[in-house]
Amino acid sequence: MGLVATDYGIKEALAQLGVIEINDGSSTGSNFFSNGELLSSFSPVDGKLIAKVKTTTAEDYENVLSTASDAFLEWRKVPAPQRGEVVRQFGDKLRELKDPLGKLVSYEMGKSLQEGLGEVQEMIDICDFAVGLSRQLHGLTMHSERPGHRMYEQYHALGIVGIISAFNFPVAVWAWNTALAWICGDVCVWKPSEKAPLCGIACQNIAAQVFKANGLPEGISCLINGDYKVGEMMTSDQRVPLVSATGSIRMGKIVAQKVAGRLGKSLLELGGNNAIIVSPDADIKMTIIGAVFGAVGTAGQRCTSTRRLIIHDSIYDKVKDALVEAYSQLRIGNPLDENNHVGPLIDVDAVNMYKKAIEEVVKEGGNLLLEGGVLDGEGYESGCYVKPAIAEANNKFNIVQHETFAPILYLLKYSGELQNAIALQNGVVQGLSSAIMTNNLREAEMFLSVAGSDCGIANVNIGTSGAEIGGAFGGEKETGGGRESGSDAWKVYMRRQTNTINYTADLPLAQGIKFDL
Ligand code: NAD
Repeated sequence: MGLVATDYGIKEALAQLGVIEINDGSSTGSNFFSNGELLSSFSPVDGKLIAKVKTTTAEDYENVLSTASDAFLEWRKVPAPQRGEVVRQFGDKLRELKDPLGKLVSYEMGKSLQEGLGEVQEMIDICDFAVGLSRQLHGLTMHSERPGHRMYEQYHALGIVGIISAFNFPVAVWAWNTALAWICGDVCVWKPSEKAPLCGIACQNIAAQVFKANGLPEGISCLINGDYKVGEMMTSDQRVPLVSATGSIRMGKIVAQKVAGRLGKSLLELGGNNAIIVSPDADIKMTIIGAVFGAVGTAGQRCTSTRRLIIHDSIYDKVKDALVEAYSQLRIGNPLDENNHVGPLIDVDAVNMYKKAIEEVVKEGGNLLLEGGVLDGEGYESGCYVKPAIAEANNKFNIVQHETFAPILYLLKYSGELQNAIALQNGVVQGLSSAIMTNNLREAEMFLSVAGSDCGIANVNIGTSGAEIGGAFGGEKETGGGRESGSDAWKVYMRRQTNTINYTADLPLAQGIKFDL
């Protein structure tokens, strides 16, 4: 069975994106040549099978790698601003196909249509960023200590960049990596999440069209599909100098060791355990909006989702009551219907993790203010819709220390100085996103100082979730330390070379060493 007729115009969207059904019941697209077992993609929206795709075998992988290696030899010679022009065209194609791609993201992953479209917009934005960057891949020049010598550094393309991505941002994370890697002169091999393989095929089709129209080799953008075993083909492959992996901390620890074992580079974007500090000087209205969106947006399945709210005891009850009231307004249901605020979790395994976490917090002594629960009945047939939960908890609880990828918000109380709240905020192994809600300048600056938040992202009067592509994105500690997207994140996709040129007839040695012959 291949593509099925579904509501919501998904079949039309897949056709617009060039995802086609072939004779053997699998679905495919351009430049995707896999011959392994079939992988079924079910929608968490209604539980229906959307399509099946073939996974990549070891033999297919070898073909992909050799196509990518050949393509690299051509692509690296194209001047960077011309590579930028190709990325510009890719961004334009995404503008054209924003609606069907956003819809597919929403249907295959379960986030709201608006968030699906927002994800495609992020892809467009990173393309724009990369186009400008293609004329700014600067190195420094230095003064040589030797007379008649010139010294400078330059950046060269690295080679094949392996991208392993998570289910929750099934298209944007790929673009954050590829748009930069391409302008840097690299070629990319992508293994999308096995939970969103059709998004992978759709993106590959868009890229393939653009490269073909420019007479460029197909291996600049490659797709492989399957579970962690297919990912492992890249992590253990010496021909892939950089592996950019987005996903759980558990996965990151395995990938990091595998890649380091062959002295490759890895860029890790792993789980978070993000908190908002609510100080006595917080604007409560803004706090509630930021906290609710952060905790229930994408059904709590963002790496930057708000998991913990650290509230000063002087305003604790006020914030708690306002939160419970705001949660009572939430509408849970089909994410393609814009009247709903919360869509489904990705699958039934995720629902089980959610249920287990709620049981766990109670067992550890937490107090459920909103106990959550799984929804059933009409519109909830997939079994993936859950009610957002709120629990009063303690930072020391084992469950609070872990990221549960679901809409569960823990309320923690602090008293006295801001440093007490910062200690709680930093008192977890993850270090992705953090925020403070305050109108007090001293508190805001303290939170951002070296003695403040230890996260890669620290915001003032903005929640933890959502980031602009212009800044470098990533986190510290067990979040993995990687940075991608904006600022100077491009440097990880290139190799740096230091060059010294002697334009004299003598050969003076560095450090004043004499070596007379
Ligand atoms: P996951 O770790 O289960 O899978 C992520 C990807 O890694 C998948 O493509 C999977 O096939 C692959 N993979 C798993 N084990 C592997 C291995 N041993 N070798 C190679 N590849 C392997 O994560 P998920 O459930 O898809 O996504 C949710 C997680 O991702 C959350 O922890 C979330 O916080 C994190 N995430 C982080 C960021 C970030 O930027 N920091 C962004 C999105 C998601």
